[in-house]
Amino acid sequence: MTQNNLAVAPRDRVLSGMRPTGALHLGHYHGALKNWVRLQSEMECFYFVADWHALTTHYESREIIEKNVYEMVIDWLAAGLDPAQCTIFLQSRIPEHAELFTLLAMGTPISWLERVPTYKDQQEKLKDKDLSTYGFLGYPLLQAADILIYKAKWVPVGEDQASHVELTREAARRFNHLYGKEAHFDALVQQTLAVLEKDSVKRLEKSRKAWQQGGDAKALEGAVGFITGHAALSTPERERLEAWFRGTGKAVLTEPQVLLTTASKLPGLDGAKMSKSYNNAIAIREDKAQIEHKVRRMPTDPARVKRSDPGDPEKCPVWQFHRVYSDAATQQWVVSGCKSAGIGCLECKQPVIDGILAEQQPMLARAEPYLRNPKIVRDIVDAGTERARTTARETMKDVRAAIGLNY
Ligand code: ATP
Ligand code: MG
Repeated sequence: MTQNNLAVAPRDRVLSGMRPTGALHLGHYHGALKNWVRLQSEMECFYFVADWHALTTHYESREIIEKNVYEMVIDWLAAGLDPAQCTIFLQSRIPEHAELFTLLAMGTPISWLERVPTYKDQQEKLKDKDLSTYGFLGYPLLQAADILIYKAKWVPVGEDQASHVELTREAARRFNHLYGKEAHFDALVQQTLAVLEKDSVKRLEKSRKAWQQGGDAKALEGAVGFITGHAALSTPERERLEAWFRGTGKAVLTEPQVLLTTASKLPGLDGAKMSKSYNNAIAIREDKAQIEHKVRRMPTDPARVKRSDPGDPEKCPVWQFHRVYSDAATQQWVVSGCKSAGIGCLECKQPVIDGILAEQQPMLARAEPYLRNPKIVRDIVDAGTERARTTARETMKDVRAAIGLNY
């Protein structure tokens, strides 16, 4: 469905991506994917496979990326993303992202990138990789391009990534400041008005006067409702008309906002944050025997050496899993059983195993048809990429025109 066919007002747009650097794990599910699934029915969601971003840290091991692109999409579908409700696409198939990145790069001070907290953090953490590259320094600006090219209003991120959205806002403001309003704004407004019925144009002009000269808020509200709900107008046309109505001129790029994901960090098998780089993760589609094996091997409260030693759940990584996977009664059983040495650690781990397996059940069922027929997954990505690219192209037309790259 194209924008033009939307009969209702367009919903706010959301953009988010993940890097195909390995099998997704339960941390990704609880920290991000679950939220993506919820959002798809509330907003217009664009979710992309960030394969270029994966290259910023895996440029020496690209096979990992190749292996995981479609595997990751299967994980998304397994978690409940529905291609009929959201747009799933592949970053590297939309070269317009790179074009916008290049154009933004021209006016972006290096210091903006150097002060992004994840830059130094990740270099420290991933010491085995040489991350003193131009690509790694620049990746938050590539992220800015990913977001701005879709004029996304919301970017769901964890707190650690909020600084990237801030950089995106700065990049958008700077662009709008440098290249100002859309070129030929007035002529384009006339063209857009010509699409509307004569009567509607007359009414709009009248209420525009009421708003701009008399500050009539009702007139503004009515007109914005009319414009954003107009089925014959594309998104850029709606934005242009609204800007004309308000008398502001149309900003080319839109500043996005953080949609903070409140989910706390899911710990891994060792109690540290679950992460594939720490080797403490359980994959979303991990097999049953592996899940049992991994949970049974989990370390517990180090003070509880013998079965008869009482333990302290607060010092035990297994307890963190009970907080996610067990109901109040089971949690109560764990706390009293552990503190009194009434239950053994293996006994305590069983409800966690059961909880993970139960959560996984519907995901495995959803993944099954895609695993049986991988072509469906490719078709989903192809269709999503086509849809996303249409929007990306529209934005780049405006961007090139604003800079004056129409020789
Ligand atoms: P990993 O950290 O496993 O190496 P990654 O670095 O490729 O994976 P991230 O960018 O860290 O991926 O995570 C992608 C998304 O998943 C982010 O929104 C992040 O907040 C979320 N996430 C990752 N791990 C966890 C976790 N353990 N708990 C909660 N959310 C998580
Ligand atoms: Mg990570």
